[in-house]
Amino acid sequence: MGETLARVEHSAPATVDPPMSATLFRDARVLDGSGEAPYRADVLVDGERIAAVARGGLAGATIDAAIVECDGRTLMPGLCESHAHLSFVDTMTLQHHAFLPVEEHLLATLRHAKLYLDSGFTSCFSAAATKPRLDVVARNAIDRGEHPGPRTLAASVQLTPTGGVGDLRQLHLDPGDAMYTQPCDGADAFRRAAREACREGVDVLKIVPSGDTSTPHIPSAATLMTADEVAAVCEVGRQRGKRVAAHARSAESIKLCVRHGADVLYHLTCADEEALDLVEAAKDRVFVAPALAVTWTRLHEAGNFGLPASPALRERIEADLGMTCERMRALKRRGVRVLPGGDYGFPWNPHGNNARDLQFFVDLLGYTPMEAIVAATRHGGALMGRGADLGLVRAGYLADLLLVDGDPLADVALLRDRSRLRAIMKGGAFHKAPPPRDAREQRRAA
Ligand SMILES: [Zn+2]
Repeated sequence: MGETLARVEHSAPATVDPPMSATLFRDARVLDGSGEAPYRADVLVDGERIAAVARGGLAGATIDAAIVECDGRTLMPGLCESHAHLSFVDTMTLQHHAFLPVEEHLLATLRHAKLYLDSGFTSCFSAAATKPRLDVVARNAIDRGEHPGPRTLAASVQLTPTGGVGDLRQLHLDPGDAMYTQPCDGADAFRRAAREACREGVDVLKIVPSGDTSTPHIPSAATLMTADEVAAVCEVGRQRGKRVAAHARSAESIKLCVRHGADVLYHLTCADEEALDLVEAAKDRVFVAPALAVTWTRLHEAGNFGLPASPALRERIEADLGMTCERMRALKRRGVRVLPGGDYGFPWNPHGNNARDLQFFVDLLGYTPMEAIVAATRHGGALMGRGADLGLVRAGYLADLLLVDGDPLADVALLRDRSRLRAIMKGGAFHKAPPPRDAREQRRAA
């Protein structure tokens, strides 16, 4: 595109108009992501940003823009997935990721990125890749405009201690054959792995300091990383300007993460009062995401896949889910930013269902639809490190916008229905253009 324009500039007559890059959403019901009640306005997008949000309309102004007649439909910020694994491939076992060749794996990762954008997710915070460079290469392709996808913060693979979550090695097999994580032991090994991930271009360092219910010998309440190990990764993150995200289910793991400066805390299943106090004290800095979908669906919708595998496991998962929800309600009361995002990428919890997490926030955590939307938009922008220009419908903000059929405040579940997303815009460009009957080219007219 840039090259074409440069050539045109040399040869075209001076009277040729510049390419039209402005879009006017006329008469939208703006749900701006701040929590304010919706209001009617015209929203003008110029280049990649929102140029104006005019309550009462821009009538009388001279506008050189493509016009989208919204007829009072909801215009809202794009959503943010806070716990993404774009390289999970909807398979039963995580072992499968080790056997999938990197070429096919990258294509699958890019396919999921497009699906997220198709589903209204214009931002994506990765909670670990399953090969070291999958997220990084996908992010770069998206950023260069070579492949459609959300704004993506690329993660490392999970850095996990030997015997921790995701260490699938068996002594009689070649260690490399069964890995989708990177085993590290001791602060030096974690530091080296974190530095290596930084060298490869990640934005997020993912650690696994606690156990997990799905792995019987290391339950959620178990803490598996030492303070030195957590501190080493957090130090690298600070030095290199990277985020540290942690699978932190045990009370002690949460405390280690907050004390040493981790930025994003997942699950928090076994948080005790001290852990909740620490998270609250850091609430201007940290983000929390419970990842409810993967647990809820494993419990209630994975029967066809033979899950939960035993009554005992069902009981443990049920207890974990109950504890996690209770903690999230407490954190909400304490004013902590809790975000939707649900570990999608299993056959019983497939990619593309991500907006379902907002419904879980309403049904399981007592959020109003408005609160769930604010969490997925304004807080999502802040999670992406762009709270000053991402996640709101506001002048100067990046134009990541959804035009929605119906009222998500009346029924937040409708955001799950891709056919209700009438238009999807990222950075001022339509990923999904509105139906032609909505669009009217009107240049230099009010
Ligand atoms: Zn995860």
